[in-house]
Amino acid sequence: MVKVVINFFDDYFFYLYLMLEQFFTCPYCWETISMLLDTSVSRQTYIEDCEVCCNPIQIETNFFNKELIDFQASSIEQ
Ligand SMILES: [Zn+2]
Repeated sequence: MVKVVINFFDDYFFYLYLMLEQFFTCPYCWETISMLLDTSVSRQTYIEDCEVCCNPIQIETNFFNKELIDFQASSIEQ
């Protein structure tokens, strides 16, 4: 039981260390939304749905030494 609790907190802090919460404006509804970015991958592009209007947003991130040096959120061209 104690071991389970310790493992839980280890995973929790590991998760906080790796993830960065980034706030930005949705290109569709202009609401300010946040997403958790994985700082362990230096450069990535992926599609994430807006939590407000559910439209697909193309996210581009670029990390250097776990510091966010470039971030773009753009609409998907139909
Ligand atoms: Zn939106």
